[in-house]
Amino acid sequence: AAKQRSRNGYQFYRDTLNIDVQPQLKIEAQLAGALDRGEFQLYYQPLVDLRTGIIRSLECLLRWNSPVLGSVSPSIFIPLAEAQGLILDLGTWVLTQAAEQISVWRAADQPDLYMSVNISPLQFEQPVFVGLVAGVLNEFQLPGDALLLELTEGSLIHDLEASNVKLAQLRDLGVRIALDDFGTGYSSLAYLRQLQVDVLKIDRSFISSMATEGPAFVSMILHLAQHMNLMTVAEGVETEEQRDLLRSLNCDVGQGYLFSRPQPAEVIKTLLAAPSPAIQLPERFSGKAL
Ligand code: C2E
Ligand code: MG
Ligand code: MG
Ligand code: MG
Repeated sequence: AAKQRSRNGYQFYRDTLNIDVQPQLKIEAQLAGALDRGEFQLYYQPLVDLRTGIIRSLECLLRWNSPVLGSVSPSIFIPLAEAQGLILDLGTWVLTQAAEQISVWRAADQPDLYMSVNISPLQFEQPVFVGLVAGVLNEFQLPGDALLLELTEGSLIHDLEASNVKLAQLRDLGVRIALDDFGTGYSSLAYLRQLQVDVLKIDRSFISSMATEGPAFVSMILHLAQHMNLMTVAEGVETEEQRDLLRSLNCDVGQGYLFSRPQPAEVIKTLLAAPSPAIQLPERFSGKAL
């Protein structure tokens, strides 16, 4: 068998890859019809004002529960949906669901609440994208500031000029833009100067490294963002220490398991009506660092 392997590279290749490739093909096959079969659901995660403890907005996060595969992580199926082209229909579905949900919550007592929606580069690149957003706002009678679109640097820098034109059109609708996962792209700083965005979301990796490496990087990013009049969001806040340090550094908003995991709409509805103790901030804040 060893001889066959060394002689026949393909055999070896197939044997080792089978473990990974087989499930991926299976996932792709299931993914193709998943939207039509109604297997997707949106979960929502609160973004909490670090000064007041008020829930300012929610980020909608896609969940796929396949009867065949079980629940599949977005980090697995989003890239596949992009490769299949399904991301366009899926993205439109997400945008529509998110708009409908935020219109319900706003009407129910929270007129200033808004929804963050992740946008794939492929969606953003579509010529019809701005029209699509305008159509969805119109459908649910929403002002533009009910939506905030989360884009990564990767979707924007490919054609900076075209991106800025589109961002300006979205801004004309009143829609705000966040740069997601800031700090993970390899040219973040160079492009930040040239992109018209409203919000900077500091990637979770910077927040989790504060405990061991100290707050220098986060502090620098916050200073920069404050200087540019950007709203700042810390992703992946998991501990009270991180929260308190971020507060002392004047980070505007926190998002993470400390406050709440992403949850279905029914659970978020309850949370909005009566915020959990985890979300309410300690009344007296010492401002003490880690
Ligand atoms: P993202 O937009 O950066 O979303 C934040 C991710 O961090 C989410 O993972 C969220 O569940 C997770 N998270 C939040 N708080 C914490 C925390 O305290 N600790 C840790 N360890 N994780 C936390 P999720 O839901 O698995 O989504 C992963 C990525 O998939 C998202 O990253 C986004 O890029 C993409 N994604 C999710 N939903 C959509 C969608 O509707 N459309 C598109 N295009 N992409 C989506
Ligand atoms: Mg996001
Ligand atoms: Mg993010
Ligand atoms: Mg992230």
